Amino acid sequence: MMSSQLIVFCSNYQQELESLNLPARYKDIQVAFFPARCGMPPVDWKTLKKDLPGEEADYSELHIVSCGGIKGLPDKQKIADRHYDYDFKQCFHLITSPDLVEDYIKKGFYLVTPGWLKHWRDILDRWGFDQKTARNFFMESARAVLLLDTGVDPEAETNLAEFASYVDRPKETILVGLVYLDLLLSNTILKSRDKTNGNLEKENQYDYHKELADFSMALDLLNSLTRVRSEDQVLANIRDLFTMLFAPREVNFKPAVKDTLVNRSERAENEADGFVVPVYGSGGLLGEIEAKGLNQPQNREQYKNLANRIVNICGLAIENARHYQMVKELSDTDGLTGLANRRKLEEHLSREWKRLQREQKPLSLLMCDIDFFKNYNDLYGHQAGDDCLRAIASVLTGYSRRSSDLPARYGGEEFMLVLPGVDLKDAEHLAGKIRQATEALNLKHEDSRCSQFVTLSIGVASVIPSAENSIEKLIASADKALYAAKQAGRNRIIIT
Ligand code: GH3
Ligand code: MG
Ligand code: MG
Repeated sequence: MMSSQLIVFCSNYQQELESLNLPARYKDIQVAFFPARCGMPPVDWKTLKKDLPGEEADYSELHIVSCGGIKGLPDKQKIADRHYDYDFKQCFHLITSPDLVEDYIKKGFYLVTPGWLKHWRDILDRWGFDQKTARNFFMESARAVLLLDTGVDPEAETNLAEFASYVDRPKETILVGLVYLDLLLSNTILKSRDKTNGNLEKENQYDYHKELADFSMALDLLNSLTRVRSEDQVLANIRDLFTMLFAPREVNFKPAVKDTLVNRSERAENEADGFVVPVYGSGGLLGEIEAKGLNQPQNREQYKNLANRIVNICGLAIENARHYQMVKELSDTDGLTGLANRRKLEEHLSREWKRLQREQKPLSLLMCDIDFFKNYNDLYGHQAGDDCLRAIASVLTGYSRRSSDLPARYGGEEFMLVLPGVDLKDAEHLAGKIRQATEALNLKHEDSRCSQFVTLSIGVASVIPSAENSIEKLIASADKALYAAKQAGRNRIIIT
């Protein structure tokens, strides 16, 4: 039996695996691919085996990375010493932290990879989707398509654009690179080699252990760092880590903007008791970390080596936090007006409700609806209608003075302004100003029956949150007031 490892991988990641070039980096490694099974019934292992190079028994280790696309895999129990089976629930877990993947999915993103996008037409075909079915499916199941770009396929962006427009969904890209996949596979290879290397020379064994320990540590570190979602917090954790490892007097992160360091003065590199390591992400230089005033300067070189190993992970964690932030902002805002969307509105309302219930302070709502807006669209066109919506959004933003005030797009031409801690009287006053400011935009509306300009009707409601009340009831009474304002002739405010 040869002492070698075979990695069997889904063909959707073929380009990634080829870029990593594992056979060149590790002895006795072979990689084989099986056709991607995305959304298709799994293929039987017996059938698949025939196409693999050599016999199953030729390999001391067999790693099958299947994402559920293969059935009939040999029982782990029986082959405990020889085989590994990686049955990932999501193939995205191979290229970025599972926590982030789950979050993106929860936010309503439909995740895709460069390999998947290469074949999107075939895949939709296999699912039996024509364009109409596909649009319906994605309209219901996804708010946007998110490409996790590994950076290996120059066509990925073009494919994404084609796919997104075919299914009529917005698109986004985040560059995840290959670092995560590399770490995961290197870890796997070294781990199983570690088990079977009893006949290796002593010093070699030491290297393996050391390398393995580094990789395991790096993965753990990465996964715990990506559980932290804000960049500031990630940086604070990195600072703590450096302090713990090297005991310097100070640790600084100097950010880069567009691949250039902002401030390169007083570099610790030139000092005998400090060092500097650059931090790279998939998209280029992110900055550098400098450690100054080492407690044990005689270990400087050793420290620097270790720092250089973990710094990749730091880069990845910083980048992950940025991606998360970007995607979070995206999923909180309405694309047309830039105001908060329904999702964000509901989140904000329920948080403020709880807070104000504790503090026994009022929560007020303005429910605003444009008057005769259908007529406006019909007369001036949809584009002008969109501009009008944006103009009114900026009026609302202008009157959101406190940090807890939240203007939101509630529906098509309906807006809501959440006013925590504001009582009914002040809310009414504010509603009056917003109504006036809207009319004062002087947006001509020749088919309005209540003014020559675009106007708003506003319903105002307020309550001190309590167990007898609810957010739903508050919204319902604002809605009722709005309806009354419409009935009473529009371009006015009504309070409940
Ligand atoms: P009312 O005074 O009773 O509110 O009458 P209305 O015409 O404003 O109300 P209705 O609900 O009949 O029509 C709302 C219109 O808003 C219909 C729809 O075309 C338009 N609308 C909804 N969303 C958008 C959008 O995103 N852009 C544009 N341009 N128009 C939109
Ligand atoms: Mg309406
Ligand atoms: Mg309306």
